[in-house]
Amino acid sequence: MGTALDYRTPWELLVVTVLSAQTTDEMVNKVSPRLFETYPAPPDLAGAKVADVEAIVFSTGFYRQKAAAIVALAADLVDRFGGVVPQTLEELVELKGVGRKTASVVLAEAWGYPAIAVDTHVKRVAGRLGLTSATDPVKVEQDLKALYPRQRWSELSMRLIQFGRDVCDARRPACSECELDGLCPWPDKPE
Ligand code: SF4
Repeated sequence: MGTALDYRTPWELLVVTVLSAQTTDEMVNKVSPRLFETYPAPPDLAGAKVADVEAIVFSTGFYRQKAAAIVALAADLVDRFGGVVPQTLEELVELKGVGRKTASVVLAEAWGYPAIAVDTHVKRVAGRLGLTSATDPVKVEQDLKALYPRQRWSELSMRLIQFGRDVCDARRPACSECELDGLCPWPDKPE
């Protein structure tokens, strides 16, 4: 099980993960082919006019911030890493606009290293299932890493994200149809 974002290289995954904030993967998949056709490699995007990038990523929402972010990210990647996406969490989070969640997605998906990306779904579902009592994403990540063997980290993260989207919705969790209902200690299940 992997991300629903379309990508061909670690570089493309890095960019589409940044674009996926506050929108759906489907929406990102609609704009990314044109984006990478226009700017195939980091130096191309680093040299792009932000306004031109805005026009391409417009429908993903927050387009001004996202366009500026991916152009700055490309420039940073070229300047400090020769345009090559790093393979460690420490280096990835040094990149402009790349947080721990995005870095973990790239590590797990693009490079195949064990990593747990904690997004809003992972945080919510892990909390409801009693896998963590933390709300800070770094602490949630640590708690999950302590509970599961390394070889399951990446898959766990993707499964929790999908489960949060499909079943354990933020506002309307489908508890009556949930296979984990008997194990789930969350006290606020809807009647
Ligand atoms: S029982 Fe409800 S709250 Fe618990 S995991 Fe399933 S959907 Fe989420």
